[in-house]
Amino acid sequence: MGAGRELGPSSRAVHAGSPAVEQGAPLTPGPVLAAPFHLRGPVDSSPYGYGRDGNPTWTGVETALGQLEDAESVLFPSGMAAVSAVLEPVLGAGDVLVVVQDGYPGVRGIATDRLAPRGVEIRFVPTDTAAIVAACDGATMVWVESPSNPGLDVCDIRAIADAVHASGGRLAVDNTLCTPLGQRPLDLGADAAMVSATKALSGHSDIVLGAVATRDPEWVALLRKHRSQGGSIAGPFEAWMLHRSLPTLALRLGRQSANAAQMAGWLRRHPDVRDVRHPSGQAASAQMTFTGPLVCFTLESEERAQRFLDALELVAEATSFGGVHSTAERRGRWGSDAVEPGFIRFSCGCEDVEDLLADVEQALASSARG
Ligand code: PLP
Repeated sequence: MGAGRELGPSSRAVHAGSPAVEQGAPLTPGPVLAAPFHLRGPVDSSPYGYGRDGNPTWTGVETALGQLEDAESVLFPSGMAAVSAVLEPVLGAGDVLVVVQDGYPGVRGIATDRLAPRGVEIRFVPTDTAAIVAACDGATMVWVESPSNPGLDVCDIRAIADAVHASGGRLAVDNTLCTPLGQRPLDLGADAAMVSATKALSGHSDIVLGAVATRDPEWVALLRKHRSQGGSIAGPFEAWMLHRSLPTLALRLGRQSANAAQMAGWLRRHPDVRDVRHPSGQAASAQMTFTGPLVCFTLESEERAQRFLDALELVAEATSFGGVHSTAERRGRWGSDAVEPGFIRFSCGCEDVEDLLADVEQALASSARG
């Protein structure tokens, strides 16, 4: 494909997983809804026999994601199902998991509620390259998130991969914020890259899915086995919706990343706003081609933050991020992140940035009035 040229990111996203064109056939095949498939004779004589083990629509989107990562990708029904598939089948008594303390709280929940009771030693570390490297000695697995959600701190995946491998462990990276188009952890030395496809990867705030990519064939087999045995599978329709979203990924993520960067610069100049957080300017952000949709900042109090959210007109108050519509929330309302009461997580969508800035400006002004 591409007349011998390596395709650019937009072309790769548009064509990822597309079947060869065929006379009279649709350019994009529809979802295949099937529980059993016709299977005559030996079970390995067909790639599809039963819908919990495999489905052509999964294959389509897994092929696409695999092409974006130069790896094999395995689809799961949520980001958390993907996290659990990476950690739970691999870690047992006596193993050591190093995990970031300032990343997505669900991952910490698996560590403390499921892995620690099994005898896995858990070491919590901040998203800071030196701190993570220092904790790698004797680690079976290291789990990082870069940029971290919600602090948007960036760590050096390559340096961490070197340290983990020197200790004989494996590195898994939660790449949800950047998606495989914005950052390729496997190229930087990670052993597995997980993504919540619920966010920017699908980008329309209408599906919950996750995926894991790795270049280790044994790990691929283990992930697939975990999925079949545990029965935690994606519906073909949602899988198809994700595949249908990928051709616009570069457009969406490019606009979202540009909007978030511009918003960060604007917010830094506003007197009512402090501690604006964005990946740009941090050394390891050079490992990314897109910095993602998020910008975070702090207002003086919980009440001011809530008034600000209430006053937004174009931007809806909602959790999650990465959708085409901008959203914002007071992150402290969940009680699971170490953030100040006035901390706002703002997800830039694909609107015109002037409209977003105007909405934020009027909401800041109106919330100042009490
Ligand atoms: N990782 C990160 C960084 C997230 O933000 C989330 C969800 O917010 C997850 C993982 C979990 O993904 P899901 O909600 O699709 O299960």
